[in-house]
Amino acid sequence: MTDLAAALELVRTVPDFPEPGVQFRDLNPLFASAPAFRAVIDEMAARLPADVDAIAAVEARGFLLGAPVAVARGCALVPIRKPGKLPVVADRVDYALEYGTATLELPGGVLPAGARVAVVDDVLATGGTVGGVCELIERAGATVSVVSVVLELAALSGRDRVGGQEIQALRVI
Ligand code: 5GP
Repeated sequence: MTDLAAALELVRTVPDFPEPGVQFRDLNPLFASAPAFRAVIDEMAARLPADVDAIAAVEARGFLLGAPVAVARGCALVPIRKPGKLPVVADRVDYALEYGTATLELPGGVLPAGARVAVVDDVLATGGTVGGVCELIERAGATVSVVSVVLELAALSGRDRVGGQEIQALRVI
């Protein structure tokens, strides 16, 4: 088994979290293994297109992945945050969840127009979150170059809400 395959085996499935009927993919055992975490970061960083300028990392688990990928690639890091956290907000987007809506915000003055951005998160599920982030980036005059996640949950058809962007998933389940 490769280091990466062994790392991905550490993701555990927790039934009925955060609510009955949901099978939650928990990456904490992977983060808790230094070699596994390194294998995942190395692979995400290596797969990005050469011309990526910035990593847009989605609060909160996307921060854990996006920050080391940005350092590994020598890219800017742009944290995409939940409402009320940023002192300077460039824009915000509301997006649909399975039940209800959520909001994410882009920090002001840090993403130049024309930047080529990789969106990094842990899991692509219904695609609402990443789709919202892509909208924020494009409204700022930047370009989404790729979406990079550890896991894509194919049954939830998230890629259909991400508008034709290239999706790099280390594992599709
Ligand atoms: P979506 O918007 O694609 O439905 O959900 C993706 C967002 O919810 C991501 O930010 C991700 O962190 C979180 N999420 C949804 N399902 C899971 C899951 O099974 N495991 C983990 N770790 N995160 C999930």
